[in-house]
Amino acid sequence: MIIVMKPGAKQDSILKIKELIEANGLDAHISDGKEVTIIGVVGDKTKLQNQNLESFDEVDKIVAVTESYKLSNKKFHPEPTVVKVGNVEIGGDNFVTFSGPCAVESEEQLITTAHAIKKAGAHILRGGAFKPRTSPYSFQGLEEEGLKFMKKAKEETGLPVVCEVTSLTAIEAAVKCVDMLQIGARNMQNFYLLKEVGKTGLPVLLKRGLSATIDEWLNAAEYILAEGNPNVVLCERGIRTFETATRNTLDISAVPVIKEKSHLPIIVDPSHASGVRAYVNPLSRSAIAAGADGLMIETHPDPSSALSDGPQSLTFEQFEQLTEDLKPFIHLMGKKI
Ligand code: PEP
Ligand code: MN
Repeated sequence: MIIVMKPGAKQDSILKIKELIEANGLDAHISDGKEVTIIGVVGDKTKLQNQNLESFDEVDKIVAVTESYKLSNKKFHPEPTVVKVGNVEIGGDNFVTFSGPCAVESEEQLITTAHAIKKAGAHILRGGAFKPRTSPYSFQGLEEEGLKFMKKAKEETGLPVVCEVTSLTAIEAAVKCVDMLQIGARNMQNFYLLKEVGKTGLPVLLKRGLSATIDEWLNAAEYILAEGNPNVVLCERGIRTFETATRNTLDISAVPVIKEKSHLPIIVDPSHASGVRAYVNPLSRSAIAAGADGLMIETHPDPSSALSDGPQSLTFEQFEQLTEDLKPFIHLMGKKI
């Protein structure tokens, strides 16, 4: 449930209620909005049955939150969350572009890509060092060596870096090298991993599972938030449907649905959603129009020789053209680049 305070409620009254909630063994999360303060309550609310909170000074109303996810729920936190990754802000009226190779393949490949995407206006470098591949015989990533290249690329370009983590060992190595941890689609419901990335306190990019509902996705975010880590960015990357013309089906409606249900920023990954380079531009435009807070686009110095996801990766020229093409759409949506 949430406790909505009257406009201008005093800090004293807010803290008194918070203490009362905590004294009853529940958690209280205060969200200071522009107009009103909301206290979100997590735990067994029957314990508060006899407290008659509605009669407290400066309490406006008590609203039940029926959804199973609470901390990621917009009712708990009506203002949009802005997640800081290095010096880049994601959410609110910012529009952020992530780009880089599917997999880190070599130092040269990554550094060249980092410089090229920076020049084209990208804000964050992506690169996979631990690759969860469908086949065990496909390239699995450079692992810790790849992380070192990510760190080097960050030092050379100043771009914050994000890398997917697939295990506790990967998390332990990644926290020393990257600014943001990515949970890939295949691990969206690996609850142990979600708790562990939550504990790091680093910003987390949480991709939607291949067959996950929006409710399941927000509950996955809840696992991270419940560890005391508020820095979660959602990424719609297409879901599995009967359609085979594209690798996945980009669920563009997930963007407005998330915007209605959650305060967390959401970006769109048209590369994995389509699997086809030629569709990246139109899908990027639709993501912007739907209200996305950013994009994740795969790029490679030579897509035809990429060790993974070459067919969906853009060349540097194509990426530069894309960022140029998208500018008017981003401005039209009232977002800052
Ligand atoms: C990726 O971004 O490298 C990736 C593997 O994507 P997804 O988890 O969305 O398949
Ligand atoms: Mn990929």
